[in-house]
Amino acid sequence: MTDCECLEKCPFFHDKMENMPSMAGMLKQRYCQGEWGLCARHRVFCALGRSAVPTDLFPNQVERVDEIISAGSLA
Ligand code: SF4
Repeated sequence: MTDCECLEKCPFFHDKMENMPSMAGMLKQRYCQGEWGLCARHRVFCALGRSAVPTDLFPNQVERVDEIISAGSLA
């Protein structure tokens, strides 16, 4: 498995987000160093670019992705 292309600059991976979940380590392993194509942050990054990824979006919050992308596409 390969690492996510965003890993180097990702605030989640580098523990720079507020309220980091206690299971952050598990999420990093699952998404950042595994199934990064399923990560909510990565999906917004692909659709709208890095600057459109909300500062409070965690990798497993996939339920927020469609709304963020729709809103971003209209902006
Ligand atoms: S998988 Fe998601 S959280 Fe992890 S480095 Fe990539 S964009 Fe960041």
